[in-house]
Amino acid sequence: MPHIKTRFPPSPTGFLHIGSLRTALFNYLIAKKLDGSFVLRIEDTDRERFVEGGVENIIQTLDWAGIQVDEGPYLDEGKNIAQKGESGPYVQSQRLDIYKKHVQKLLEKGDAYYCFCSKERLSELRKKQEETKQPTGYDGHCRGMNKKDLEEKLNSGIPFVIRLAVPKEGKTTFTDAILGDISFDNSIIDDQVLMKADGFPTYHLAVVVDDHLMGITHISRGSEWLPSTPKHILLYIMFGWEIPVYAHQPLLVNEKKQKLSKRHGDVSVKDFKEKGYLIEALINFVAFLGWNPGDEREIFSLKELENVFSLEKMAKSPAVFNREKLEWYNKQYMMQIDLDEVTKRAIPFFINAGVVDKTQVDGLEEFEYLKKVVDLERTRANTLVELVDSVGFIFAKDLVYDASLLVWKKSTKEDAKEKLIGLKVLLGSISESGWELASIEQVVKEWITKNECGVGNTLWPLRVALSGQKNSPGPFDLVYVLGKEKVLKRISAAIDMM
Ligand code: GLU
Ligand code: ZN
Repeated sequence: MPHIKTRFPPSPTGFLHIGSLRTALFNYLIAKKLDGSFVLRIEDTDRERFVEGGVENIIQTLDWAGIQVDEGPYLDEGKNIAQKGESGPYVQSQRLDIYKKHVQKLLEKGDAYYCFCSKERLSELRKKQEETKQPTGYDGHCRGMNKKDLEEKLNSGIPFVIRLAVPKEGKTTFTDAILGDISFDNSIIDDQVLMKADGFPTYHLAVVVDDHLMGITHISRGSEWLPSTPKHILLYIMFGWEIPVYAHQPLLVNEKKQKLSKRHGDVSVKDFKEKGYLIEALINFVAFLGWNPGDEREIFSLKELENVFSLEKMAKSPAVFNREKLEWYNKQYMMQIDLDEVTKRAIPFFINAGVVDKTQVDGLEEFEYLKKVVDLERTRANTLVELVDSVGFIFAKDLVYDASLLVWKKSTKEDAKEKLIGLKVLLGSISESGWELASIEQVVKEWITKNECGVGNTLWPLRVALSGQKNSPGPFDLVYVLGKEKVLKRISAAIDMM
Protein backbone atom coordinates (compact mmCIF):
# COMPACT_ATOMS: atom_id res chain seq x y z
CA MET A 1 0.00 0.00 0.00
CA PRO A 2 1.32 3.48 -0.80
CA HIS A 3 2.16 5.85 2.00
CA ILE A 4 -1.04 7.62 3.02
CA LYS A 5 -1.07 11.37 2.62
CA THR A 6 -3.79 13.91 3.16
CA ARG A 7 -3.69 17.61 2.60
CA PHE A 8 -5.17 20.88 3.71
CA PRO A 9 -5.03 23.41 0.86
CA PRO A 10 -6.52 26.71 2.02
CA SER A 11 -6.47 29.90 0.01
CA PRO A 12 -5.01 32.79 2.01
CA THR A 13 -8.00 35.04 1.47
CA GLY A 14 -8.61 36.13 5.06
CA PHE A 15 -8.71 34.69 8.53
CA LEU A 16 -9.19 30.95 8.63
CA HIS A 17 -12.87 30.02 8.65
CA ILE A 18 -14.21 27.60 11.24
CA GLY A 19 -15.28 25.30 8.36
CA SER A 20 -11.66 25.22 7.24
CA LEU A 21 -10.60 24.18 10.72
CA ARG A 22 -13.00 21.26 10.32
CA THR A 23 -11.45 20.33 6.97
CA ALA A 24 -7.95 20.56 8.39
CA LEU A 25 -8.95 18.46 11.37
CA PHE A 26 -10.58 15.68 9.32
CA ASN A 27 -7.63 15.44 6.96
CA TYR A 28 -5.24 15.41 9.89
CA LEU A 29 -7.28 12.68 11.58
CA ILE A 30 -7.44 10.54 8.44
CA ALA A 31 -3.66 10.77 8.15
CA LYS A 32 -3.15 9.93 11.83
CA LYS A 33 -5.55 7.02 11.69
CA LEU A 34 -3.86 5.48 8.65
CA ASP A 35 -0.32 6.18 9.78
CA GLY A 36 0.15 8.72 7.06
CA SER A 37 1.30 12.29 6.78
CA PHE A 38 -0.48 15.58 6.61
CA VAL A 39 0.43 18.24 4.07
CA LEU A 40 -0.30 21.95 4.18
CA ARG A 41 -0.42 23.64 0.79
CA ILE A 42 -1.15 27.28 0.12
CA GLU A 43 -3.46 27.82 -2.85
CA ASP A 44 -2.71 31.40 -3.76
CA THR A 45 -3.30 31.46 -7.50
CA ASP A 46 -6.17 33.88 -7.18
CA ARG A 47 -4.06 36.98 -6.76
CA GLU A 48 -7.04 39.29 -6.46
CA ARG A 49 -8.29 37.62 -3.32
CA PHE A 50 -4.90 37.33 -1.65
CA VAL A 51 -4.82 38.84 1.85
CA GLU A 52 -1.60 39.99 3.48
CA GLY A 53 -0.89 37.92 6.60
CA GLY A 54 -3.28 35.20 5.48
CA VAL A 55 -0.60 32.51 5.28
CA GLU A 56 0.74 33.37 8.73
CA ASN A 57 -2.78 33.20 10.12
CA ILE A 58 -3.29 29.73 8.64
CA ILE A 59 -0.04 28.44 10.10
CA GLN A 60 -0.64 30.00 13.50
CA THR A 61 -4.18 28.69 13.69
CA LEU A 62 -3.10 25.11 12.97
CA ASP A 63 -0.36 25.55 15.51
CA TRP A 64 -2.78 26.80 18.13
CA ALA A 65 -5.03 23.83 17.38
CA GLY A 66 -2.19 21.36 17.84
CA ILE A 67 -2.66 20.06 14.29
CA GLN A 68 0.85 19.16 13.27
CA VAL A 69 1.93 19.64 9.69
CA ASP A 70 4.38 17.06 8.33
CA GLU A 71 5.05 18.83 5.05
CA GLY A 72 4.47 22.39 4.01
CA PRO A 73 4.98 25.96 5.10
CA TYR A 74 5.75 26.84 8.72
CA LEU A 75 7.02 29.87 10.61
CA ASP A 76 10.68 29.73 11.55
CA GLU A 77 12.14 31.29 14.66
CA GLY A 78 12.23 34.71 13.05
CA LYS A 79 8.53 34.27 12.18
CA ASN A 80 9.36 34.02 8.49
CA ILE A 81 7.56 31.54 6.27
CA ALA A 82 9.78 28.53 5.62
CA GLN A 83 8.88 25.17 4.06
CA LYS A 84 9.63 21.55 4.87
CA GLY A 85 9.10 18.35 2.91
CA GLU A 86 10.31 16.63 -0.23
CA SER A 87 7.49 17.55 -2.62
CA GLY A 88 7.68 21.33 -2.42
CA PRO A 89 7.35 24.10 -3.02
CA TYR A 90 4.05 23.98 -1.15
CA VAL A 91 2.90 27.40 -2.29
CA GLN A 92 1.14 27.36 -5.65
CA SER A 93 2.42 30.71 -6.86
CA GLN A 94 5.89 29.18 -6.68
CA ARG A 95 4.90 26.30 -8.98
CA LEU A 96 3.80 28.11 -12.13
CA ASP A 97 6.31 26.32 -14.37
CA ILE A 98 5.00 22.97 -13.23
CA TYR A 99 1.45 23.85 -14.26
CA LYS A 100 2.60 25.20 -17.63
CA LYS A 101 4.45 21.99 -18.34
CA HIS A 102 1.43 19.91 -17.49
CA VAL A 103 -1.09 21.91 -19.44
CA GLN A 104 1.24 21.56 -22.42
CA LYS A 105 0.90 17.79 -22.19
CA LEU A 106 -2.86 18.08 -22.27
CA LEU A 107 -2.71 20.38 -25.29
CA GLU A 108 -0.53 17.92 -27.14
CA LYS A 109 -2.94 15.08 -26.51
CA GLY A 110 -5.98 17.13 -27.44
CA ASP A 111 -7.33 17.02 -23.90
CA ALA A 112 -7.15 20.78 -23.66
CA TYR A 113 -7.49 23.59 -26.19
CA TYR A 114 -6.84 27.29 -26.62
CA CYS A 115 -9.78 29.64 -26.32
CA PHE A 116 -9.55 33.17 -27.67
CA CYS A 117 -13.09 34.24 -26.89
CA SER A 118 -13.38 37.80 -25.63
CA LYS A 119 -15.02 38.70 -22.34
CA GLU A 120 -17.81 40.34 -24.35
CA ARG A 121 -18.55 37.18 -26.30
CA LEU A 122 -18.63 35.11 -23.12
CA SER A 123 -20.99 37.46 -21.29
CA GLU A 124 -23.21 37.69 -24.37
CA LEU A 125 -23.30 33.88 -24.45
CA ARG A 126 -24.17 33.70 -20.81
CA LYS A 127 -26.93 36.26 -21.17
CA LYS A 128 -28.50 34.27 -24.01
CA GLN A 129 -28.28 31.02 -22.07
CA GLU A 130 -29.95 32.63 -19.09
CA GLU A 131 -32.69 34.16 -21.20
CA THR A 132 -33.50 30.86 -22.86
CA LYS A 133 -33.19 29.05 -19.53
CA GLN A 134 -30.39 26.83 -20.74
CA PRO A 135 -27.59 25.69 -18.49
CA THR A 136 -24.80 28.25 -18.54
CA GLY A 137 -21.34 27.24 -19.66
CA TYR A 138 -18.87 27.54 -22.49
CA ASP A 139 -20.26 26.53 -25.91
CA GLY A 140 -17.08 24.99 -27.34
CA HIS A 141 -16.68 27.77 -29.89
CA CYS A 142 -12.87 27.47 -30.04
CA ARG A 143 -12.75 23.72 -29.63
CA GLY A 144 -11.55 22.01 -32.81
CA MET A 145 -10.09 25.18 -34.33
CA ASN A 146 -7.94 24.29 -37.31
CA LYS A 147 -4.17 24.52 -37.13
CA LYS A 148 -3.88 27.49 -39.42
CA ASP A 149 -6.38 29.63 -37.51
CA LEU A 150 -4.80 28.63 -34.28
CA GLU A 151 -1.32 29.61 -35.35
CA GLU A 152 -2.56 32.88 -36.73
CA LYS A 153 -4.28 33.76 -33.49
CA LEU A 154 -1.31 32.76 -31.38
CA ASN A 155 1.02 34.82 -33.54
CA SER A 156 -1.18 37.87 -33.45
CA GLY A 157 -0.90 37.97 -29.66
CA ILE A 158 -4.64 37.82 -28.84
CA PRO A 159 -4.98 36.88 -25.16
CA PHE A 160 -6.14 33.33 -24.60
CA VAL A 161 -7.08 30.85 -21.93
CA ILE A 162 -6.68 27.09 -22.04
CA ARG A 163 -9.74 24.96 -21.51
CA LEU A 164 -10.35 21.35 -20.61
CA ALA A 165 -11.77 19.32 -23.50
CA VAL A 166 -14.49 17.47 -21.62
CA PRO A 167 -15.69 14.37 -23.51
CA LYS A 168 -19.09 15.19 -25.00
CA GLU A 169 -20.63 11.85 -24.15
CA GLY A 170 -20.59 9.31 -21.39
CA LYS A 171 -20.43 9.69 -17.65
CA THR A 172 -17.78 10.44 -15.11
CA THR A 173 -18.24 8.34 -12.02
CA PHE A 174 -16.45 7.80 -8.77
CA THR A 175 -17.08 6.34 -5.35
CA ASP A 176 -16.94 8.83 -2.53
CA ALA A 177 -15.89 7.38 0.81
CA ILE A 178 -18.75 9.20 2.54
CA LEU A 179 -21.40 9.78 -0.11
CA GLY A 180 -21.03 6.52 -2.04
CA ASP A 181 -21.33 6.21 -5.84
CA ILE A 182 -21.56 9.50 -7.67
CA SER A 183 -22.07 9.98 -11.36
CA PHE A 184 -22.11 13.07 -13.59
CA ASP A 185 -23.17 13.19 -17.24
CA ASN A 186 -20.24 14.57 -19.18
CA SER A 187 -22.66 16.64 -21.24
CA ILE A 188 -23.29 18.89 -18.23
CA ILE A 189 -19.62 19.37 -17.33
CA ASP A 190 -18.27 22.69 -18.53
CA ASP A 191 -15.09 22.99 -20.58
CA GLN A 192 -13.38 24.42 -17.54
CA VAL A 193 -10.64 27.02 -17.90
CA LEU A 194 -7.37 25.43 -16.74
CA MET A 195 -4.97 28.26 -17.48
CA LYS A 196 -5.92 31.90 -17.27
CA ALA A 197 -4.82 34.64 -19.64
CA ASP A 198 -2.26 35.85 -17.09
CA GLY A 199 -0.49 32.48 -17.16
CA PHE A 200 -1.79 31.46 -13.74
CA PRO A 201 -3.48 28.10 -13.47
CA THR A 202 -7.03 27.89 -12.21
CA TYR A 203 -7.74 26.02 -9.00
CA HIS A 204 -8.84 22.93 -10.96
CA LEU A 205 -5.59 22.39 -12.78
CA ALA A 206 -3.36 23.32 -9.88
CA VAL A 207 -5.17 21.17 -7.35
CA VAL A 208 -4.97 18.02 -9.46
CA VAL A 209 -1.35 18.49 -10.51
CA ASP A 210 -0.28 19.22 -6.96
CA ASP A 211 -2.28 16.48 -5.31
CA HIS A 212 -0.71 13.99 -7.70
CA LEU A 213 2.86 15.28 -7.52
CA MET A 214 2.67 15.55 -3.73
CA GLY A 215 1.47 11.97 -3.46
CA ILE A 216 -1.90 12.77 -1.91
CA THR A 217 -3.95 9.59 -1.44
CA HIS A 218 -7.02 10.91 0.41
CA ILE A 219 -8.91 14.14 -0.17
CA SER A 220 -11.53 15.29 2.27
CA ARG A 221 -13.21 18.62 1.62
CA GLY A 222 -16.58 20.29 1.95
CA SER A 223 -19.46 19.13 -0.25
CA GLU A 224 -19.51 22.49 -1.98
CA TRP A 225 -16.55 21.15 -3.98
CA LEU A 226 -18.50 18.15 -5.25
CA PRO A 227 -19.42 19.72 -8.63
CA SER A 228 -15.69 20.24 -9.27
CA THR A 229 -14.78 16.65 -8.62
CA PRO A 230 -15.76 15.20 -12.05
CA LYS A 231 -13.50 17.78 -13.70
CA HIS A 232 -10.68 16.63 -11.46
CA ILE A 233 -11.37 12.96 -12.15
CA LEU A 234 -11.25 13.66 -15.88
CA LEU A 235 -7.87 15.33 -15.43
CA TYR A 236 -6.52 12.33 -13.50
CA ILE A 237 -7.70 10.06 -16.31
CA MET A 238 -6.20 12.25 -19.03
CA PHE A 239 -2.86 12.41 -17.23
CA GLY A 240 -3.03 8.67 -16.61
CA TRP A 241 -2.72 9.12 -12.85
CA GLU A 242 -4.22 7.13 -10.03
CA ILE A 243 -7.36 8.75 -8.64
CA PRO A 244 -7.20 9.47 -4.90
CA VAL A 245 -9.92 8.59 -2.40
CA TYR A 246 -12.48 11.39 -2.13
CA ALA A 247 -14.45 11.97 1.06
CA HIS A 248 -16.77 14.95 0.80
CA GLN A 249 -17.79 16.28 4.18
CA PRO A 250 -21.42 17.22 4.74
CA LEU A 251 -22.40 20.82 4.21
CA LEU A 252 -21.99 23.12 7.17
CA VAL A 253 -25.21 25.02 7.86
CA ASN A 254 -26.47 27.44 10.50
CA GLU A 255 -29.57 26.83 12.60
CA LYS A 256 -31.74 28.25 9.82
CA LYS A 257 -30.26 25.57 7.56
CA GLN A 258 -28.40 28.17 5.50
CA LYS A 259 -24.86 27.61 4.40
CA LEU A 260 -22.52 28.96 7.06
CA SER A 261 -20.88 32.05 5.67
CA LYS A 262 -18.95 35.08 6.70
CA ARG A 263 -22.05 37.16 6.30
CA HIS A 264 -23.71 35.46 9.24
CA GLY A 265 -21.63 36.81 12.08
CA ASP A 266 -18.26 35.70 13.19
CA VAL A 267 -17.04 32.44 11.78
CA SER A 268 -13.30 32.86 11.71
CA VAL A 269 -11.29 30.81 14.16
CA LYS A 270 -9.62 34.04 15.25
CA ASP A 271 -12.99 35.50 16.26
CA PHE A 272 -13.73 32.52 18.44
CA LYS A 273 -10.31 32.73 20.00
CA GLU A 274 -10.83 36.39 20.78
CA LYS A 275 -14.20 35.64 22.32
CA GLY A 276 -12.47 33.38 24.78
CA TYR A 277 -13.23 29.95 23.39
CA LEU A 278 -10.74 27.26 24.29
CA ILE A 279 -9.12 25.39 21.43
CA GLU A 280 -10.01 22.05 23.03
CA ALA A 281 -13.67 23.00 22.84
CA LEU A 282 -13.44 24.22 19.26
CA ILE A 283 -11.71 21.04 18.14
CA ASN A 284 -14.14 18.81 19.97
CA PHE A 285 -17.07 20.78 18.58
CA VAL A 286 -15.95 20.81 14.94
CA ALA A 287 -15.07 17.11 15.07
CA PHE A 288 -18.77 16.48 15.61
CA LEU A 289 -19.72 18.55 12.57
CA GLY A 290 -19.79 15.56 10.28
CA TRP A 291 -18.54 12.77 12.48
CA ASN A 292 -19.60 10.98 15.63
CA PRO A 293 -18.24 8.00 17.52
CA GLY A 294 -21.46 6.00 17.13
CA ASP A 295 -22.23 6.05 20.85
CA GLU A 296 -23.12 8.57 23.54
CA ARG A 297 -19.64 9.91 24.22
CA GLU A 298 -19.19 13.59 23.49
CA ILE A 299 -15.94 14.72 25.07
CA PHE A 300 -12.79 13.98 23.08
CA SER A 301 -9.39 15.58 23.17
CA LEU A 302 -7.42 15.82 19.95
CA LYS A 303 -5.32 12.85 21.06
CA GLU A 304 -8.45 10.80 21.74
CA LEU A 305 -9.91 11.77 18.38
CA GLU A 306 -6.77 10.48 16.71
CA ASN A 307 -7.62 7.08 18.15
CA VAL A 308 -11.37 6.88 17.77
CA PHE A 309 -11.83 8.69 14.46
CA SER A 310 -12.81 6.72 11.40
CA LEU A 311 -13.91 7.74 7.93
CA GLU A 312 -16.70 5.15 8.09
CA LYS A 313 -18.40 7.08 10.88
CA MET A 314 -18.62 10.29 8.91
CA ALA A 315 -22.13 11.55 8.20
CA LYS A 316 -23.81 12.45 4.93
CA SER A 317 -26.43 14.86 6.13
CA PRO A 318 -25.70 18.56 6.69
CA ALA A 319 -23.98 19.43 9.94
CA VAL A 320 -25.69 22.16 11.93
CA PHE A 321 -23.43 24.72 13.52
CA ASN A 322 -25.13 25.14 16.87
CA ARG A 323 -23.63 27.92 18.96
CA GLU A 324 -25.22 26.71 22.16
CA LYS A 325 -23.51 23.40 21.72
CA LEU A 326 -20.22 25.17 21.24
CA GLU A 327 -20.80 27.09 24.47
CA TRP A 328 -21.62 23.87 26.21
CA TYR A 329 -18.36 22.37 25.04
CA ASN A 330 -16.46 25.41 26.11
CA LYS A 331 -18.00 25.29 29.55
CA GLN A 332 -17.01 21.63 29.90
CA TYR A 333 -13.41 22.48 29.16
CA MET A 334 -13.44 25.57 31.36
CA MET A 335 -14.26 23.25 34.26
CA GLN A 336 -12.02 20.39 33.19
CA ILE A 337 -8.74 22.05 32.32
CA ASP A 338 -6.51 22.53 35.30
CA LEU A 339 -6.64 25.82 37.14
CA ASP A 340 -3.07 26.87 36.33
CA GLU A 341 -3.75 26.41 32.66
CA VAL A 342 -7.10 28.25 32.58
CA THR A 343 -5.50 31.08 34.49
CA LYS A 344 -2.61 31.28 32.04
CA ARG A 345 -5.03 31.43 29.16
CA ALA A 346 -7.16 34.04 30.90
CA ILE A 347 -4.22 36.42 31.43
CA PRO A 348 -4.31 38.05 27.97
CA PHE A 349 -8.01 38.68 28.53
CA PHE A 350 -7.37 40.23 31.95
CA ILE A 351 -4.73 42.45 30.41
CA ASN A 352 -7.05 43.33 27.56
CA ALA A 353 -9.81 44.26 29.99
CA GLY A 354 -7.33 46.53 31.75
CA VAL A 355 -7.84 44.92 35.16
CA VAL A 356 -4.29 43.72 35.51
CA ASP A 357 -1.18 44.89 33.73
CA LYS A 358 1.44 42.82 32.07
CA THR A 359 4.16 43.40 34.64
CA GLN A 360 1.85 42.43 37.48
CA VAL A 361 1.16 38.88 36.38
CA ASP A 362 4.82 38.03 35.90
CA GLY A 363 5.29 37.46 39.59
CA LEU A 364 4.37 34.15 41.15
CA GLU A 365 2.43 35.76 43.95
CA GLU A 366 0.25 37.68 41.53
CA PHE A 367 -0.29 34.58 39.48
CA GLU A 368 -1.40 32.66 42.57
CA TYR A 369 -3.81 35.47 43.31
CA LEU A 370 -5.25 35.42 39.78
CA LYS A 371 -5.76 31.68 40.14
CA LYS A 372 -7.98 32.28 43.14
CA VAL A 373 -9.95 34.88 41.22
CA VAL A 374 -10.36 32.57 38.23
CA ASP A 375 -11.48 29.76 40.46
CA LEU A 376 -14.31 31.93 41.77
CA GLU A 377 -16.18 31.98 38.46
CA ARG A 378 -14.70 29.45 36.13
CA THR A 379 -17.41 26.86 36.59
CA ARG A 380 -20.08 29.41 35.76
CA ALA A 381 -18.55 31.21 32.81
CA ASN A 382 -19.01 29.93 29.28
CA THR A 383 -15.93 31.63 27.86
CA LEU A 384 -12.75 33.33 29.03
CA VAL A 385 -14.27 36.69 28.12
CA GLU A 386 -17.29 35.96 30.30
CA LEU A 387 -15.00 34.81 33.06
CA VAL A 388 -12.97 37.99 33.02
CA ASP A 389 -16.13 40.12 32.81
CA SER A 390 -17.70 38.35 35.72
CA VAL A 391 -14.76 38.93 38.06
CA GLY A 392 -14.21 42.53 37.02
CA PHE A 393 -15.76 43.71 40.31
CA ILE A 394 -12.92 42.07 42.23
CA PHE A 395 -10.48 44.56 40.74
CA ALA A 396 -12.75 47.60 40.80
CA LYS A 397 -11.64 50.58 42.92
CA ASP A 398 -15.13 51.49 44.06
CA LEU A 399 -18.26 49.46 43.55
CA VAL A 400 -21.24 51.19 42.06
CA TYR A 401 -24.61 49.78 43.07
CA ASP A 402 -27.88 50.81 44.62
CA ALA A 403 -27.93 50.80 48.42
CA SER A 404 -31.32 49.07 48.45
CA LEU A 405 -29.61 45.97 47.05
CA LEU A 406 -27.92 45.52 50.43
CA VAL A 407 -31.24 44.69 52.10
CA TRP A 408 -32.26 41.07 52.02
CA LYS A 409 -35.89 40.21 51.13
CA LYS A 410 -38.01 40.93 54.24
CA SER A 411 -35.17 42.38 56.23
CA THR A 412 -34.76 46.11 56.82
CA LYS A 413 -32.15 48.70 56.08
CA GLU A 414 -31.41 49.16 59.79
CA ASP A 415 -30.96 45.43 60.28
CA ALA A 416 -28.61 45.15 57.28
CA LYS A 417 -26.56 48.07 58.55
CA GLU A 418 -26.30 46.58 62.02
CA LYS A 419 -25.11 43.25 60.58
CA LEU A 420 -22.47 44.95 58.46
CA ILE A 421 -21.17 46.92 61.44
CA GLY A 422 -20.91 43.68 63.42
CA LEU A 423 -19.21 41.84 60.54
CA LYS A 424 -16.71 44.65 60.14
CA VAL A 425 -15.58 44.25 63.74
CA LEU A 426 -15.59 40.46 63.51
CA LEU A 427 -13.59 40.23 60.27
CA GLY A 428 -11.29 43.00 61.44
CA SER A 429 -10.31 40.77 64.33
CA ILE A 430 -9.06 37.95 62.09
CA SER A 431 -5.33 38.26 61.48
CA GLU A 432 -3.87 38.38 57.96
CA SER A 433 -2.16 35.08 58.57
CA GLY A 434 -5.42 33.48 59.66
CA TRP A 435 -7.17 34.64 56.49
CA GLU A 436 -8.11 31.17 55.23
CA LEU A 437 -11.34 30.14 53.59
CA ALA A 438 -12.26 27.47 56.11
CA SER A 439 -11.55 29.54 59.20
CA ILE A 440 -13.34 32.61 57.84
CA GLU A 441 -16.40 30.49 57.17
CA GLN A 442 -16.26 28.96 60.64
CA VAL A 443 -15.82 32.26 62.47
CA VAL A 444 -18.68 33.97 60.60
CA LYS A 445 -21.06 31.02 61.01
CA GLU A 446 -20.37 30.76 64.74
CA TRP A 447 -20.96 34.47 65.12
CA ILE A 448 -24.30 34.19 63.29
CA THR A 449 -25.41 31.34 65.54
CA LYS A 450 -24.26 32.94 68.75
CA ASN A 451 -25.96 36.24 68.03
CA GLU A 452 -28.99 34.66 66.36
CA CYS A 453 -28.47 36.94 63.37
CA GLY A 454 -30.10 34.78 60.70
CA VAL A 455 -28.07 33.45 57.82
CA GLY A 456 -29.78 35.36 54.99
CA ASN A 457 -30.01 38.58 56.98
CA THR A 458 -26.27 38.52 57.48
CA LEU A 459 -24.72 36.89 54.45
CA TRP A 460 -26.80 38.73 51.85
CA PRO A 461 -25.63 42.23 52.81
CA LEU A 462 -22.09 40.94 53.21
CA ARG A 463 -22.08 39.42 49.74
CA VAL A 464 -23.58 42.54 48.16
CA ALA A 465 -21.18 44.83 50.01
CA LEU A 466 -18.28 42.85 48.59
CA SER A 467 -19.57 42.35 45.05
CA GLY A 468 -22.08 45.12 44.40
CA GLN A 469 -24.10 42.47 42.56
CA LYS A 470 -27.32 40.58 42.92
CA ASN A 471 -25.62 37.38 41.77
CA SER A 472 -22.04 36.66 42.58
CA PRO A 473 -19.80 33.98 44.05
CA GLY A 474 -20.58 33.11 47.68
CA PRO A 475 -19.68 35.50 50.55
CA PHE A 476 -16.95 33.37 52.13
CA ASP A 477 -15.13 32.92 48.83
CA LEU A 478 -15.36 36.66 48.31
CA VAL A 479 -14.03 37.51 51.76
CA TYR A 480 -11.18 35.12 51.24
CA VAL A 481 -10.20 36.20 47.74
CA LEU A 482 -10.61 39.95 48.25
CA GLY A 483 -8.35 39.95 51.30
CA LYS A 484 -8.70 41.78 54.58
CA GLU A 485 -7.96 45.30 53.42
CA LYS A 486 -10.44 45.37 50.55
CA VAL A 487 -13.08 43.56 52.56
CA LEU A 488 -13.03 46.10 55.38
CA LYS A 489 -12.97 48.98 52.92
CA ARG A 490 -15.97 47.65 50.99
CA ILE A 491 -17.97 46.97 54.14
CA SER A 492 -17.28 50.52 55.36
CA ALA A 493 -18.36 51.91 52.00
CA ALA A 494 -21.61 49.94 52.23
CA ILE A 495 -22.27 51.15 55.78
CA ASP A 496 -21.71 54.74 54.62
CA MET A 497 -24.32 54.28 51.91
CA MET A 498 -27.05 53.42 54.40
N1 GLU B 1 -8.18 25.96 -2.17
C1 GLU B 1 -9.43 25.30 -1.97
C2 GLU B 1 -10.08 25.93 -0.75
O1 GLU B 1 -9.83 27.07 -0.51
C3 GLU B 1 -9.19 23.82 -1.81
C4 GLU B 1 -10.36 22.95 -2.11
C5 GLU B 1 -9.98 21.47 -2.11
O2 GLU B 1 -9.83 20.92 -1.04
O3 GLU B 1 -9.82 20.92 -3.19
O4 GLU B 1 -10.81 25.36 -0.03
ZN1 ZN C 1 -13.29 30.41 -27.16
